[in-house]
Amino acid sequence: VDVARLAQLIVERLAPQADTRGVTLRVESVPGLPLAWADSDRVEQVLLNLLDNAIKYSPPEATVDVAVLVGPEQTVLVQVRDRGIGIPPEVLPRIGERFYRADKARARAHGGSGLGLAIAQALVEAHSGKLWLESHEGEGTTAQFTLPEA
Ligand code: ATP
Ligand code: MG
Repeated sequence: VDVARLAQLIVERLAPQADTRGVTLRVESVPGLPLAWADSDRVEQVLLNLLDNAIKYSPPEATVDVAVLVGPEQTVLVQVRDRGIGIPPEVLPRIGERFYRADKARARAHGGSGLGLAIAQALVEAHSGKLWLESHEGEGTTAQFTLPEA
């Protein structure tokens, strides 16, 4: 899978949805990236889930950046970075659990079932990759995952 190309296509497809929230999506990648050994439809699902969160938890007029990079140990690394509300450190370890949603009031306002990240994590791990989040409350969140090089 050419992950940079896939990310570009998905971002173009989500642009109208992001636009209704005033959110801008950007993709950058480095030249000469290796292909990933992956199931394209599943990688698409992972990207959709991460971008859905990034858009949903961004303030209006914010930018979401997708970067496709060379990762450690023969991997392709994908980062989805938002400048949204962030996730409190005390709940960050639980965020990948099925049906877990960070705060109930916020969860009701945004809909969703709390499954998106659990599904994304399972799909990435089925490729022998890793998915993790870094977040600072009030500053934003970066979700990242690796996929093996082809
Ligand atoms: P679903 O994905 O099933 O529609 P969801 O988005 O609530 O529902 P997850 O994607 O699994 O579920 O995310 C779990 C929880 O983690 C969210 O409810 C939210 O509290 C928090 N979260 C996830 N991504 C972000 C983000 N980018 N910024 C802030 N909070 C986030
Ligand atoms: Mg979600």
